[in-house]
Amino acid sequence: MLSVDEALSKILETFATLPAETIPVAEALGRVLAQDVIAVEDLPPFPNSSMDGYAVRAADVAKAGKDVPVSLAVVGDIPAGVAPQFSVYEGQAARIMTGAMMPPGADAVIPVEETDEGNGFRTENRAATLRKHIGILRTAKVGDYVRPIGEDIRVGQIVLHKRRVIRAADLGVIVGLGQTEVQVIQRAKVAILSTGDELLTADQPLEPGKIRDSNGYTISALCQQIGAIPNYLGIARDTEADVRDKLEQALSWGAHVILSTAGVSVGAFDVVRSVIESMGTLGFWKINLRPGKPLAFGNVGGVPYFGLPGNPVSAMVTFDVFARPAILKLMGRTDHAPTVEAELAEPMTSDGRRTYMRVRLERQDDRLIAYSTGTQSSGALSSMVYADGLMIVPDGMTDIPVGTKLKVRLLSEEI
Ligand code: AMP
Ligand code: MG
Repeated sequence: MLSVDEALSKILETFATLPAETIPVAEALGRVLAQDVIAVEDLPPFPNSSMDGYAVRAADVAKAGKDVPVSLAVVGDIPAGVAPQFSVYEGQAARIMTGAMMPPGADAVIPVEETDEGNGFRTENRAATLRKHIGILRTAKVGDYVRPIGEDIRVGQIVLHKRRVIRAADLGVIVGLGQTEVQVIQRAKVAILSTGDELLTADQPLEPGKIRDSNGYTISALCQQIGAIPNYLGIARDTEADVRDKLEQALSWGAHVILSTAGVSVGAFDVVRSVIESMGTLGFWKINLRPGKPLAFGNVGGVPYFGLPGNPVSAMVTFDVFARPAILKLMGRTDHAPTVEAELAEPMTSDGRRTYMRVRLERQDDRLIAYSTGTQSSGALSSMVYADGLMIVPDGMTDIPVGTKLKVRLLSEEI
């Protein structure tokens, strides 16, 4: 039997990062940067006021106080978006709005609340409300309420590094620097097929001995969750012609990865095996993992292929453990799934395989307590539905007493 780690590293060896593509910034959330973003401008591009107030020379207001206002001549008004065409000399001030450009000569801003104008500007009629003189009620240090040029970002600075997963704020910075497009790693195209003569689609009436195909949907959703492009090709019957037809569809679509579910348990695999061996190569692995011991891995026409187990929980867990990191690697990502540490609420036994136990998590003060979601049958999808995470029982551990602290791979964001 292969350990999970051995199997994963064999799999990851065969994957390389996909090429880059250029996309509009508005579509880039969650994508992976293919190159550094370097600032071609300073941000902010000019020194500006961080308050509504008066731009002054700090030296002029050195003696100002609540009871000893210093009167300055107002020589202009600077609304946001306008570059002042005048300077502020000794004894002068300019009315200035938040975000407006500092006039030459001024080196500080006095908020309007700290002048004898009181609270807030009236700017409905800018010219009429502009005072000839303003009384300043406090002192200022050079730079007070002034956002200097390049305070946020300096020209030439690497703002975002290659391989970063783009977040909301990043989009703001990229467009703030005047870029409308961004180079990102391509999304992985993942073709998915379900195999089995027992499978019906959701809209078909149930028949004796049949079940509805759920794997097609869960596995497509897991692909979507990591930003890949799933293409669910539907159900292939357990015939060579049907399986071959689906695999050919996957290839002509341009899949980067092909996933099938079911038919990998001993004896059940002959159909899929013979088709794949005629179109590529196939390894058939027993992995020290529960659920999900059987796994097939190879390629179809040079495209990596995973044969995941058919049981709905096993399919999801093996996707998470093996296919997810491989697909992420294609998309330029090496990050691990989010985990927390939790304490087991009830004693448990395991058979020594690495076990992904479906647990519900409860916060008790600053501790996280893990409860089994009930049946741990690999066919019981409800155990996944009610789980906040998968508690990872390490290889070789058989008796796990109450209170044991183990890692839990989080499935829910609401803990
Ligand atoms: P197999 O790997 O073909 O032996 O299937 C293992 C178990 O998974 C059987 O109980 C199948 O009925 C079930 N199964 C296989 N494919 C699916 C599917 N697409 N959706 C739900 N259950 C499935
Ligand atoms: Mg089957």
